[in-house]
Amino acid sequence: MKRKILVATTNKGKLTELRAMLDLDVEWVGLDDLGGFEEVIEDGSTFAANARKKALTYAAASGFWTLADDSGLVIDALEGAPGVHSARFSGDKADGEDRGLIDHRNIARVLELMKDISEDKRGARFVCSLCLANANKVLLETEGVCEGMIAGAEVGDNGFGYDPIFIVEQLGKTTAQLSSSRKNAISHRGNAIRKLKPMLAKLVADGVS
Ligand code: IMP
Repeated sequence: MKRKILVATTNKGKLTELRAMLDLDVEWVGLDDLGGFEEVIEDGSTFAANARKKALTYAAASGFWTLADDSGLVIDALEGAPGVHSARFSGDKADGEDRGLIDHRNIARVLELMKDISEDKRGARFVCSLCLANANKVLLETEGVCEGMIAGAEVGDNGFGYDPIFIVEQLGKTTAQLSSSRKNAISHRGNAIRKLKPMLAKLVADGVS
């Protein structure tokens, strides 16, 4: 029987992306496929702590190996902000407010805080932490990074979140100007998944419980 791995997300896009990139002989399920979970509060001070908390909590609740992620934008000139607060940097979601509007507010706050920062001090990175746990312990952890700098204004229509203001140094383009496959090839999430893949393949092959 195939091993079942729970991905700690309700986002179908993330589940599809992980399934395709990891390409392993396992059955992937999302939180919505099992149902009945209480939401885990992401109150850690690092991406790794949040990923770990989600993986351990959902693994204990489900009894399945659980893969969780946490990611965000780290800006040098803002002492690492928005960091673990990336999703809510400009305040909580108002009733009925959609994701696009929140992303827009978050970007506006970053651009305002960065308006007097010179070009050579606009360094930033996207960071993604992944954690695989069973009900008792962490089995694997990886981190992926994508280095870049903060643009002065929004450029590009693809992606989500801070993509329109994040310039990938090696490409001279924002991540919102890249196709999803081009972004995956260099992104923090792609890099974290590529690091995880051989280790997870080995765990699955070894039949570790
Ligand atoms: P999550 O951990 O994937 O939910 O991401 C938290 C927040 O970080 C998102 O709401 C975005 O604001 C930001 N973020 C994470 N990854 C990306 C990315 O690839 N592009 C743009 N923003 C991102």
